[in-house]
Amino acid sequence: MPDEATTQETYPPPPDLARDAVAQPELYARADADRLAFWADQARTLLDWETDFTQTLDWDRAPFARWFVGGRLNVAHNCVDRHVEAGNGDRVAIHWEGEPGDRRTITYADLARDVRRCANALEGLGVKAGDRVALYLPMIPEAVVAMLACARIGAPHSVVFGGFSADALRNRVDDAEAVVVVTADGGYRRGAAAPLKASVDEALGDPARGGRSVRSVLVVRRTGQDVAWTEGRDVWWHDVVDGASEEHEAQAFDAEHPLYILYTSGTTGKPKGILHTSGGYLTGAAYTHRNVFDVRPETDVYWCAADIGWVTGHSYIVYGPLANGVTQVMYEGTPDTPTRERWWEVVERYGVTLLYTAPTTVRTFMKWGADLLSGHDLSSLRLLGSVGEPINPEAWGWYRRHVGSDRTPVVDTWWQTETGSIMISPLPGITTTKPGSAQRPLPGISAAVLDDTGAPVADGQAGYLVLTEPWPSMLRGIWGDDDRYVETYWSRFPGRYFAGDGARLDEDGDVWLLGRVDDVMNVSGHRLSTAEIESALVSHPSVAEAAVVGAADDTTGQAVCAFVILRADAARAVSGEGDEADAAALVKELRDHVAREISPIAKPRQVLVVAELPKTRSGKIMRRLLRDVAEGREAGDVTTLADSSVMGTIRAGLQGPA
Ligand code: ATP
Ligand code: MG
Repeated sequence: MPDEATTQETYPPPPDLARDAVAQPELYARADADRLAFWADQARTLLDWETDFTQTLDWDRAPFARWFVGGRLNVAHNCVDRHVEAGNGDRVAIHWEGEPGDRRTITYADLARDVRRCANALEGLGVKAGDRVALYLPMIPEAVVAMLACARIGAPHSVVFGGFSADALRNRVDDAEAVVVVTADGGYRRGAAAPLKASVDEALGDPARGGRSVRSVLVVRRTGQDVAWTEGRDVWWHDVVDGASEEHEAQAFDAEHPLYILYTSGTTGKPKGILHTSGGYLTGAAYTHRNVFDVRPETDVYWCAADIGWVTGHSYIVYGPLANGVTQVMYEGTPDTPTRERWWEVVERYGVTLLYTAPTTVRTFMKWGADLLSGHDLSSLRLLGSVGEPINPEAWGWYRRHVGSDRTPVVDTWWQTETGSIMISPLPGITTTKPGSAQRPLPGISAAVLDDTGAPVADGQAGYLVLTEPWPSMLRGIWGDDDRYVETYWSRFPGRYFAGDGARLDEDGDVWLLGRVDDVMNVSGHRLSTAEIESALVSHPSVAEAAVVGAADDTTGQAVCAFVILRADAARAVSGEGDEADAAALVKELRDHVAREISPIAKPRQVLVVAELPKTRSGKIMRRLLRDVAEGREAGDVTTLADSSVMGTIRAGLQGPA
């Protein structure tokens, strides 16, 4: 039987966790008493500084911030070498598993050696501090090594999703004027070897189109597939890295030295090249990772199942976990290869204790059914995290019940590429959690929900989510475009950071994310949130996933259009010959369900059953493309879509019986 919704229930922390958790209630008290002193303390406690800083925050040129002014540190030293120096070189840093089933165990000592070799190899290719390096790699350990090697020599990296096209890669290489591209021959996805080097060749092949800044392409051999070779430009990783010296002196850089550029996922429009720097970013990543996931480096096995091409991979696979010296799992492929039980085998094999993933994955597992988990021992898990989109209360409940054995806390973490680290989240030993709510800004973070005039809304009301004080891991700008930085984030409400998301405060003042402000619908003068209607749909036993958009409507201004993916059993019941009447009845039932759960105003004009939804590579639904479909337009920019055939499938499906 499908699960009942659990929207009303709340979950206090388990008593032993409340007692032992890394984060105790005084963390809020200390941050509230003196925010800047709190951050200075975090920076000094969590990181090793070669030169201590003299000022915590310089905000004189707001919104351009400088944190930990005068401080100097080496980010890679903080993520690797210092753990070895502290005697933990034998601790496993990464349990890596490739999609075909190959495995590697990499200790902190191994990682330190590999990073030093790679740093020497990059310097051998002429890379100097300040030069940009583009990374276009699958989820293999070399990706982590290359990022840290860049950090070690002060060369900002720009990681581009391995699934992106040659055009997307060229645009990002050109925007950052990268001098080196690090790639692989290919990577494994869904049982096949997908080419990467070929895309790099295409991206750089025609100087008239771009890619002229690139001098070298460093290629990891992963799949062994044939690759074209440009003499003088292309070099094999195993030639120049494996043979490089293991000695490398790490130089300290200014706290504000650029660490990386990363493009946002492009859910709402053209991706923005977000710039992060060193000291503040690493402080934010380490602090949030430690406290939100209650990390105990000696005993935990942590798994963040994101891709390094997404900010979650930067902060919660590379920088946060490694700065904290934790043991983690890294997996190359998709959850359905070779079978839909792959994840649970991985959890069982390594005894994963902390799992961090996205609502889209949880809903996929819901769609597949809980039976797939029942044959696996998941008792090692003690904490579950969610990121990327609002998590529907139904999905939250399923995650806790079936993955967490109704025992583990679930933390819903709200943040963005721009914020660098988690901003709003429960703390597992302190917060009584509510399914579907990110709840409360972390200690040291100040958020508010504002109305159109910039006044804070009362509890129970909805508005625009803003951050009211600067924070260490905040973006320092959009690469090469200061005006766009000020315009996008700091103009809507002067002096406050505008996140672009809508949120509601409940009666306790807890934050509920409502989706993008751009996606808010206006139906007959009523503002409706995509997240709330989607959650209502997902709370119906037949629905696994839903996306809701507002489409222009002559009478109501906008009308609610819903796209739903059914759970496996419901899909079977309405998919056969002669099942049209059942399908029509289900659509009516879903429309009525929304009217009942929310209000008749929210009742969808249309409910379209689809097999797939358009998503970014990071798993976010691209509602703007569905709006294009609903309004009968050509779809807009699809370059960051995970699977470009999805839009065609949806359109084709819509030509059939409505
Ligand atoms: P673009 O800015 O180019 O449109 P994007 O916003 O999707 O892309 P990211 O920075 O990867 O790129 O995503 C951040 C956004 O993801 C947030 O603004 C928010 O809308 C959504 N998000 C992340 N975590 C959560 C969460 N826990 N609950 C609700 N929404 C979330
Ligand atoms: Mg965004």
